[in-house]
Amino acid sequence: MSKLPEEEHPHKAFGWAATDTSGILSPFKFSRRENGEDDVTLKVLYCGICHSDLHCVKNEWGVTKYPIVPGHEITGVVTKVGSGVKKFKVGDHVGVGVLVGSCRSCENCQQNLECYCPKIIATYNHVYYDGTRTYGGYSDILVANQHFVLKFPDNLPLDAGAPLLCAGITVYSPMIYYGMTEAGKHLGVVGLGGLGHVAVKMGKAFGLKVTVISTSPHKEKEAIEKLGADSFLVSRDPEKMKAALGSIDFIIDTVSAVHPLGPLLGLLKTNGKLVQVGLPEKPLELPVFPLALGRKLVGGSNVGGLKETQEMLDFCAKHNIAADIELIKMDYLNTAMERLSKADVRYRFVIDVANSSL
Ligand SMILES: [Zn+2]
Ligand SMILES: [Zn+2]
Repeated sequence: MSKLPEEEHPHKAFGWAATDTSGILSPFKFSRRENGEDDVTLKVLYCGICHSDLHCVKNEWGVTKYPIVPGHEITGVVTKVGSGVKKFKVGDHVGVGVLVGSCRSCENCQQNLECYCPKIIATYNHVYYDGTRTYGGYSDILVANQHFVLKFPDNLPLDAGAPLLCAGITVYSPMIYYGMTEAGKHLGVVGLGGLGHVAVKMGKAFGLKVTVISTSPHKEKEAIEKLGADSFLVSRDPEKMKAALGSIDFIIDTVSAVHPLGPLLGLLKTNGKLVQVGLPEKPLELPVFPLALGRKLVGGSNVGGLKETQEMLDFCAKHNIAADIELIKMDYLNTAMERLSKADVRYRFVIDVANSSL
């Protein structure tokens, strides 16, 4: 029997997986489900490396089932659509983010908040409806229900745009929900990493004054000159922190290590809002006095629904916002993970999947 060309075996997939808590990734052959009526198959072109990927390959959240193929900042080109798919056609550029399924009927789903559905199916390390495991974008192909596939705008680069699918929506959604987009207001962005650097760009696109708040003074030049921040505040400098008391309207806190909230709440004006999007492993201490006396609010937020994710992509396309990335090949993955664990990347690794040997 002659060997069928690759596109006729859409269920055979090649990726990179971690198989134990060492988190070391290596080549892995597996199966994707057949493309169903409402499904889209895409050839993966790029996949961003999110901090969650690092946590998951090492089972730091205690929920990892091995083998795990991470990756939920996925862009690619459609190679097949089911008969029920009207939104996409072969050749379209698309994206898949952190979720590939939800119940579609609960209160959250009905409000386009699929990301808060209790029956959410994550893009990797979860079980799909048919009982198969979900594997992420560190692989050559992906099959996803059309509802969970995003149209990738033409002028958004597929490589630098990929991180928007997790990092981007994670900061965009709270800005919209908590009303942090009014031009002229003052936004503080805590932590200048994958999330923070996109938050700076979005803040500027909304017409906000943006201050980066960081423990690393050496990031000042880049924050202002390259990312467009208006000012930079070193959180370890008590003099500067004191001078900035009560000067900021909104804060997006992207720091995922345990850190004190008190000094940040002090920076907020009356009615100020702090939204936590970084996910520290241990609870943070919440000082109530500054909250009550300044009628301040502390909130949280987790990615966004599909409708809002599409809006975010369109917003980024319109304002030429993408991530600052370091493009790597798959065989550099383990080094990239090592460097990511030391925050040694400006600001997101993206895997050039289509040009890597799998
Ligand atoms: Zn992520
Ligand atoms: Zn639901």
